[in-house]
Amino acid sequence: MKIPKVDKDRCIGCGLCVSLCPAVFELGKDGKSEVKNPKGACDLEEARDSCPVGAIELMVDG
Ligand code: SF4
Repeated sequence: MKIPKVDKDRCIGCGLCVSLCPAVFELGKDGKSEVKNPKGACDLEEARDSCPVGAIELMVDG
């Protein structure tokens, strides 16, 4: 199981990860991505690899 994390210092709020994985990511009030449900159905590798600034990290859990 992999847990996604967003580095808000890097995120530019492009919304791509939200488009790819709406079950996992949402844009917060600050306009940057945050994880709303780390267990949402989603291709997390694709989201990580698609982020233009490399702000998504996948942590191995367990
Ligand atoms: Fe932020 Fe990357 Fe998601 Fe764009 S794809 S909103 S830069 S985390």
